[in-house]
Parts: sequence; structure tokens; C-alpha cells
Amino acid sequence: MKLEELSALDLGRKIAGRTLSSREVVAYFLERIARFNSSITAFSQVCADLALEKADQIDRQIASGMAMGPLAGVPIAIKDILCTREMRTTCGSRMLENFVAPYDATSVEKMERAGLVTLGKTNMDEFAMGASTETSIFGATHNPWSLERTAGGSSGGSAAALAAGMTPLSIGTDTGGSIRQPAAFCGVCGLKPTYGRVSRYGLVAFASSLDQIGPLAHRVEDLAACLETIAGHDSRDSTSINAPVPQYTRLINRSISNMRIGVVREQIEHAGLAPEIRSAVNRAMEFLTGLGATIVDIGLPHSRYSIATYYVIAPCEASSNLARYDGAHYGLRADTKSLHGESPLEDMYCHSRSQGFGEEVKRRIMLGTFALSSGYYDAYYRKAQQVRRLIFDDYHRAFEQADVLLGPVTPTTAFRLGERLQDPVQMYLGDLFTVGANLAGIPALAIPAGNDQAGLPLSIQLQGPPLAEEKLLSVAYQLEQALFFQPRTANLS
Ligand code: GLN
Repeated sequence: MKLEELSALDLGRKIAGRTLSSREVVAYFLERIARFNSSITAFSQVCADLALEKADQIDRQIASGMAMGPLAGVPIAIKDILCTREMRTTCGSRMLENFVAPYDATSVEKMERAGLVTLGKTNMDEFAMGASTETSIFGATHNPWSLERTAGGSSGGSAAALAAGMTPLSIGTDTGGSIRQPAAFCGVCGLKPTYGRVSRYGLVAFASSLDQIGPLAHRVEDLAACLETIAGHDSRDSTSINAPVPQYTRLINRSISNMRIGVVREQIEHAGLAPEIRSAVNRAMEFLTGLGATIVDIGLPHSRYSIATYYVIAPCEASSNLARYDGAHYGLRADTKSLHGESPLEDMYCHSRSQGFGEEVKRRIMLGTFALSSGYYDAYYRKAQQVRRLIFDDYHRAFEQADVLLGPVTPTTAFRLGERLQDPVQMYLGDLFTVGANLAGIPALAIPAGNDQAGLPLSIQLQGPPLAEEKLLSVAYQLEQALFFQPRTANLS
């Protein structure tokens, strides 16, 4: 049996019904990782022994008749930015190359309790700053559909691991599109929940007001099951929302016949949008109309400022968050004893940061520090916050007219590795359709929509009002059924 073609929930059902053991499933995926990871670099670390041990434990619990959740015994891959006690948490950075967190992130704890088995940590752009997973110290992640192309980023490892059939489920983080864009490039599903829906406790901070943790999977129902597992209020994250967690998996198969689907004019008419992606959005629109949904035309007039706004706010928050890596508290400390400078402490700070951080991270720290400095604060940071509000208000108005917004995830399909590395602005512009959801704090989901003529995955995005994950999941579920999207694992052998 090709286990990589089953959904995570199907694997869970087989494990619960004991037609497969968790050990068999975990060993199967570990074997695929051993075979393919050297050409894909989806995983930065693999914890084979721990995973097999955990699988045996789950198998024993199931044999003893213990009640377990639907994902018990199912393997999962976790982005290397979530703190784990039993593995390193590197953030793809030299700075944290040897860092082992003293605690598990809340979401990791919740997955552990649900019986999910961690296979390892996935590769990412350094500190999640990027859109191609090329800035990691472990090297670039390759797109399983076309090895000379990017898997997207920053959660490129989590998306590529799925597309290469190395895991049935993975976790990513999304500050400006880092779950949805790699999902789109790799032909898998990805969900960025509402800001605060999933606790950020134990997530290494990039831009705290934008960061969210979320699932990636082959199937929409797997997104629902995984979100159900990790969502919920957490007293250790003051921004986490104190609202009950719906049973997303139960709600997913609802009729959407009276839904109003908004199509964002500024997105669908955008000159930079690849024609094949536009056609995919149109096809989705037709299917939804066929199911009885109403299509409404929506304007998000301030969305053209979203990249500029995001690339002020995110670096500002990053420059503040990354101040903690000073060689004294965490991570790398440069050996500066032999320098005998006038200020040994300053030498230690400077050299630790200069050796520990890569180019893109340094660029963001400088941008953020500049935009926050006195004299520029009002012109850049305050202005960006004001525009952020206008972007939020645009969405608020849009959701008075539509239940869900439909559009593209990315302007293009996966670009070639190296193509945008020397041109940061080019890289940033690719985030055009994703950053809005983070600035507004709303949930957004990417699902596959077939392939282009070159065989590269196409993808569409759904966005909804705060806490409307179940609506997004229901629409995505219908689209998935209607368009008959198969589990999408690239043929690597
Ligand atoms: N590409 C965006 C950036 O570089 C988004 C990254 C993210 O979502 N972590 O900031």
C-alpha cells in the first residue's frame, strides 16, 4: 500500500482499527525520508528513534483499549521554529544551530497529547524571513515537482515534505504567507488560522503581531483535524483568543449553497497574475456557482499598500524580537577574547550577531531599526500602522458583503532557485496576495487547483472573517470534492 496517498485521518482510522500499526506507518515515512531527503532537504533534523519509540507506545495504548484521538499514531513534521524539548530548534540559523529549548511549544504539547508522532523538524528560511527556503544554514529546500525550483517559504520544508510523501501532515508558521505560499508551490493544502486562534507560546518570534501557527496537509479534512488539535486559549499567550474550538471535522461537510463568495477585483485583475492561476480561480468560481453559491465583486482598495505596510511592520517587530540574540542570553557567542578591544562586551555583541545572522536577517534588523528610530518612527512605523488599520477596515467592509473571499495565493507558480535571491524586492513582491490576511489577523487557506502546462501546481486562496475557519474549510472541502483533487505526491523514483 502506498501510505503517502492516504489522508492523515485515514491513516489514523487504520491505526485505531489496528489494520496498520503506528510503528509500520512511522517506519514507512522514515524510510521515504531516508530515501528522498538528501535531494529535497525538507527536513533539517529527523528523530527516527524517538518517533519509533513513540509509535510503539501509541500501539500499546491502542491495544489496551485506551480511547485515543483521530490522529493518534499518525506522523507529523514540525517547522524548526517551534520549540521542542527533545530536538534542537534552529530556525535555520547559525545563531541557534545548537539551541535546545527547555520546553515544548503549546501546539507541540497538544499534538503530543493527541498522540501524533513527530518525525523531525522541517527546513525554513532563517527566522522565517523569506519566501523560498533558500536562506537556511541547511541549504535550500527543493520543490518535489521540479527540483530546480523553490518549494516556497518560509515553511518550504513543511510543504515539500508533504509533496514528496515524507509525512502525511506538517506544521508551518505564517507571518506574511509562509504557510500558504509554500503550500501553493508544492500542491498541498495550508491554513493560516485567525491571529490568536493557535497559541504562539514556544514559537520563536519573528513579527509577533503577525505570526500564526497552522497545519499543512494533502486533504482539507486533515487541516480541520489538525487545527482542532492545536487551537484553543492558552494562558501563556496573552494574545490567544478565549473562544471555544469548534469541531471543524464535523462541520466541514456543510452545504455552501447560500454562501456569498467575494472575488477581489484588485487580485483577479492584477497585471502580474499568471493567466493559468487566473483561470484556476475562474474555474473555482464556476464550481461554487454550480453548488448554489453567489459570486460578489469585492474591492480592497488599500490592498495595493499591503506589501509596503508589511515590509515596514514585520522588520520593525523583527528588529525588536531579535535583539535578544546578543551572545549572552541565547545561541551563538563569538569568541572575542583575543581581540583585546576597548569594549569587550560590545565586541562580543557585535561579533556574535555578525557571525550568527545571515544576510536577509541582518537586512530586516537594519530596516526595522531604521524605521523605528526617532525622527523616522512617525514617517514609517506610525504611518504603516495607520495603513494597516485601513487594510483591516477594507476587509471588514468586504465581509459585510461576502462570507468568504476567493482569489490567488501567489502571482506566479514556483520560481527557480536562485532567481530572486539577489533581488530582495522581487522576492517581497511575490507576497502581494498573502500579507493582507496577516495584517488584518484573519484566517486564510490555500488549496491545490490542478497543474499548469509545465506540470507545476496551481493554487487558490480563501480568506474569511476572524474565527471563520469552519467556513473556509467547508468551501475548500466542496472545491476539493468537486475538482476531485487527488492526494498530490510527486513521483520521485
Ligand atoms: N515572505 C514573507 C517574508 O519574508 C513572509 C514570511 C513568513 O510568513 N514567515 O517576510
